[in-house]
Amino acid sequence: MNSGPDRTGDTPALVAQRVSKAFGDTVAVREASFEVERGEIVALLGPSGCGKSTTLRVLAGFEQPDDGVVQINGEIAVGPGVWKPPERRRIGMVPQDFALFPHLSVAENIGFGLTDGHRAWWTRPVRRLRRAQAPARVHEMLELVGLHDFAERYPHELSGGEAQRVALARALAPEPAAVLLDEPFSNLDQNLRASLRLAMRNILKAANTAAVFVTHDREEALSLADRVAVMRDGRIEQIGPPDDIYYRPETRFIGTFVGDANILPGERTRGGAQTELGFVVLADLPSESTGQTVDVLLRPEQLALKPCRDDGPGCANVISSEYYGHDQVVRVRLRSGVEVEARLRTEVVWHPDDPVDVIVLDDAIAFPR
Ligand code: ATP
Repeated sequence: MNSGPDRTGDTPALVAQRVSKAFGDTVAVREASFEVERGEIVALLGPSGCGKSTTLRVLAGFEQPDDGVVQINGEIAVGPGVWKPPERRRIGMVPQDFALFPHLSVAENIGFGLTDGHRAWWTRPVRRLRRAQAPARVHEMLELVGLHDFAERYPHELSGGEAQRVALARALAPEPAAVLLDEPFSNLDQNLRASLRLAMRNILKAANTAAVFVTHDREEALSLADRVAVMRDGRIEQIGPPDDIYYRPETRFIGTFVGDANILPGERTRGGAQTELGFVVLADLPSESTGQTVDVLLRPEQLALKPCRDDGPGCANVISSEYYGHDQVVRVRLRSGVEVEARLRTEVVWHPDDPVDVIVLDDAIAFPR
């Protein structure tokens, strides 16, 4: 199985360059630029209304951008003077509701894209060949998504997770350059989502196709994607690997959107910042901003607690603790009244009013006020 994106110098499978789209006065997408390599999974993550679905629809050809260029396998799909309709783009789509044909079996659903004649990117001889090869390709796709024994079932006989895999197999069957997935887990049981995420990632990696999926769920984006593009107000504010987005967010918005965050006021000093929790080392900071007032971002798992020795006014106090078994989230009020959350292991269980010292375990990041 191929586990990483293919960065061998080939043309990226998908390129969006300064794509913009407005609906009347509402600018849905502003100069969005990104590339997706073959075998790479990119998440478009952001709050409701930030332009994720519109970006996906522009890539698929369901929406015409006002500006910008989309290239698929090195060919311009839309750009100045160029417009290819959806059926002429090498794109596979997995809609939010999976949109399986209820009167077709699983195998027929998967084979539909091979025999329906809508794949206008195929030349006539290729189409003839594809028709002949369709049964073998359907078989291959059933194997890929682990549904070989389900070939004769109908959509109403499938669980949500199985229906999702059929939709994915149908999108992948015609060997698209890229597959686009619109909120692929939103119709599925919350408890199943984590295991289905891994299954989907494995299928996409085995297929070695570029994939872009839209989500407003940060866990989904961080766990499934190779790179995450965080959108806000139509712009891609940052794109990068999940750990970059989580631990090195470029803006305060991203820092607080992609994970739980404590924000502490601080003052920049050499190599770090002075905060109520003492000196905190800052990662990636320009040296000239000493003295600047900053907001220091610390993830709850970057904090630890220890019993406060004096049990006096110098101590912070536990306000509440939520016990989850594998960990606990303890809310603490600092002397100044600022509240922070620590995500801790559970060897020590903390209780309201416990006097504590809060310790910073890692380098933090800071944003100018
Ligand atoms: P959600 O997560 O809620 O689906 P989103 O990030 O996918 O949101 P879009 O659906 O791309 O956001 O919408 C971006 C903006 O464009 C929103 O303000 C939305 O109201 C607007 N918009 C989207 N489609 C249309 C349309 N066809 N006509 C008018 N406005 C639209």
